[in-house]
Amino acid sequence: MKKILITGAAGFLGSHLCDRFINEDFHVIAMDNLITGDLNNIAHLFKLKNFEFYNHDVSKFVYVPGELDYILHFASPASPIDYLKIPIQTLKVGSLGTHNLLGLAKEKRARILVASTSEVYGDPLVHPQNEDYFGNVNTIGPRGVYDEAKRFQESITMAYHTYHGLETRIVRIFNTYGPRMRLNDGRVVPAFIGQSLRGEDLTVFGDGSQTRSFCYVDDLIEGIYKLLFSDYNYPVNLGNPDEISIKQFADEIIALTGTKQKVIYKPLPKNDPLQRQPDITRAKEILDWEPKVSRAEGMQKTLDFFKTFTKEELNKREH
Ligand code: NAD
Ligand code: UDP
Repeated sequence: MKKILITGAAGFLGSHLCDRFINEDFHVIAMDNLITGDLNNIAHLFKLKNFEFYNHDVSKFVYVPGELDYILHFASPASPIDYLKIPIQTLKVGSLGTHNLLGLAKEKRARILVASTSEVYGDPLVHPQNEDYFGNVNTIGPRGVYDEAKRFQESITMAYHTYHGLETRIVRIFNTYGPRMRLNDGRVVPAFIGQSLRGEDLTVFGDGSQTRSFCYVDDLIEGIYKLLFSDYNYPVNLGNPDEISIKQFADEIIALTGTKQKVIYKPLPKNDPLQRQPDITRAKEILDWEPKVSRAEGMQKTLDFFKTFTKEELNKREH
């Protein structure tokens, strides 16, 4: 049985990756310090013989006994309000954490895939964004702690590939949504759904003309799986190119949930990218991958998940 270490395993994407690799008959070692994650996301796996959980901060030395075949490094705060609240931890997990996991991969001769992000493109001057675009990031802006940590992550990962011959993969993930997002993590999908279910107005930041392109989690996990088993070392964008403005998106959620509430406008956060759409030509060519789940279908599944929450859970504001 092949062994895989998944960091950030108690988070949104990490927990779905745990499910996928358990289903593929891997031995999964899940690691998380629960800073933005939730053990409930992986509680159903604890009874399995081929699943282990380590509560550990990967910015500190990482030790795993025995052999290891693969590492997926997904630990990192991922939502703007999270990484603004814990900026130093965000910088550390993208830099020191990545260094620790690359060292572990080298020691174990394991293949490592790191989770990068569309944020490496910053507020992009090229549209849609392809992998050859170098980006437009404000290093000292509020989002810089996340963006630059991820840019460093990519650089050190490529350096381990080039200088140590390590088997590395880099995925640039664009906005992904689905069940197990934290309702209060501030990202727009749980924010709008939570507001609709609580009977609150939907908070659109700025004038809502900024765009995003939302990918359903099952599609993303399939792309990551394919990338891990490909032989491609350079960054690959994964996301859904179906682009929408945030105001239009709020209107869609209002229609989907049937809420009687309306849109209210709040200030646009500093350096909030004005437009974002992945160019997925490379993923199509190299991985034969493209997203299959429409926003209508994916949002319905996501809404169904949040509808199972009790009133107390819906009203819980702090993690
Ligand atoms: P999430 O907050 O749900 O999950 C992140 C997990 O990492 C949490 O369980 C958290 O407790 C854990 N973690 C954070 N710092 C840690 C540390 N030092 N040691 C151990 N565990 C730590 O976020 P997510 O949406 O699941 O994102 C997962 C990864 O994917 C992140 O690296 C993020 O940058 C990347 N990503 C996500 C998206 C998206 O749209 N969801 C987009 C781009 C990139
Ligand atoms: N956004 C919004 N209202 C909210 C939360 C977010 O209008 O309650 C906007 C935010 O300003 C951004 C977009 O939605 O333009 C996506 O935000 P999110 O935090 O989900 O992700 P990111 O900015 O990292 O793409």
